[in-house]
Amino acid sequence: MNAEEFRRRGKEMVDFVADYMENLEQRPVFPDVEPGYLRSLIPTEAPLEPENYDEIMKDVERVIMPGITHWHSPYFYAYFPAASSYPAMLADMLSGAIGCIGFSWGTASEATLMSLLAARCKIVRRVQSINPEMSEPEIFIKLVAYTSEQSHSSVERAGLIGGVMMKKIPTDSTYAVTGDTLKKIVEKDKEAGLIPFYFCATLGTTASCAFDHISELGPICNEQNIWMHVDAAYAGSAFICPEFRPLLNGIEFADSFNLNPHKWLLVNFDCSAMWVKKRQDMIGAFKVEPLYLRHENQESGRFISPELGYHWQIPLGRRFRSLKMWFVFRMYGLQGLQAHIRKQVGLAKEFESLVRADKRFEICADVIMGLVCFRLKGSNELNQNLLKRITKRREIHLVPCHLTGRFVLRFAICSRTTESHHIREAWRHITQLTFELLQESIQ
Ligand SMILES: *Cc1c(COP(=O)(O)O)cnc(C)c1O
Repeated sequence: MNAEEFRRRGKEMVDFVADYMENLEQRPVFPDVEPGYLRSLIPTEAPLEPENYDEIMKDVERVIMPGITHWHSPYFYAYFPAASSYPAMLADMLSGAIGCIGFSWGTASEATLMSLLAARCKIVRRVQSINPEMSEPEIFIKLVAYTSEQSHSSVERAGLIGGVMMKKIPTDSTYAVTGDTLKKIVEKDKEAGLIPFYFCATLGTTASCAFDHISELGPICNEQNIWMHVDAAYAGSAFICPEFRPLLNGIEFADSFNLNPHKWLLVNFDCSAMWVKKRQDMIGAFKVEPLYLRHENQESGRFISPELGYHWQIPLGRRFRSLKMWFVFRMYGLQGLQAHIRKQVGLAKEFESLVRADKRFEICADVIMGLVCFRLKGSNELNQNLLKRITKRREIHLVPCHLTGRFVLRFAICSRTTESHHIREAWRHITQLTFELLQESIQ
């Protein structure tokens, strides 16, 4: 493809994407195919001769689209939002063209792991400064990290990758960790000779969007030399609205913080932002310096060169993601982004009131942001059957969670294009399927 053809095909692709976005709600949100459906639709080998672009584009509809779960359909209420906006798509294209390799930032999972590794490095140095005879392996086996039983699976994985014990802290009736609970466990572990060194708090858990009490947890962590990382992958974006800031109280005690603009800030995947209180804790932990990456201004500790960032993550290279953030922030402005968050929270509240008005259902956790956890009053099996029906009909898409042993449906406001009428339609659909389900169980 030469520049001239790229101009033409690029414009066609922009039209294709705009048509896709505009007509997305007409497509079933969830695919009706079996794993392996592609096998009969594509050849077993790559073509020997170049193929025609038009043929490839035709196959997008014939081969690819039938297998797609449309994450940007206004009927998609599963997981958490995967943010998307036109400015981010345009900037992503430019980022692809510039194609430079930057050296920092990862996803939320990586931010958690990096903070754990930095904390591990810091505690080993501290312990060795007091007990110089203790070796690294001797210290490692005594280390203990903590997180909520409700935290994201990536936190447990950080413990596994970091080779340290990760204890799950029980939560209160709002699915949040309180200071008292952590304090008791830390004290007991210290008496047993363990070394507590890391706590991953969550602001906005994946299951129910619960907020750990960081204003109680922070002082305990600071006092005990426990690194407090705050995972706000989803809810972090909402703190651009002043009315949600009280949930951040206690953030001054945090050693590191992460949010995913690719979840809720209209920046297409992937884009995750991490903040660290003392950059030396991070840089010092991973400093390996081959000659080809050295830079004159390095020792000043300032970000004069992007190369300096490579101490902040596991992969060396990253693509130019900040470009799409810059486009989105400028095209929407703070007000536009705030309006987006507020609208989605409003839609969640609207769905909540529809659920509350129907006595067969119950709300299972406080609705604070764009997530509603609800279920039919009754057995887990009943709710599992309801979800099976919802998934099979493919009108809307959502996923479940477990809250204190109960099977709960999660209704997350995801798509930028979801409106009030979609919410009401979704609820009508759910009640219709509930009616069918209950009719059948009577027969
Ligand atoms: C989505 C989510 C993650 C994982 O984010 P990635 O960027 O995909 O690694 C971690 N923690 C919470 C609370 C999340 O909601």
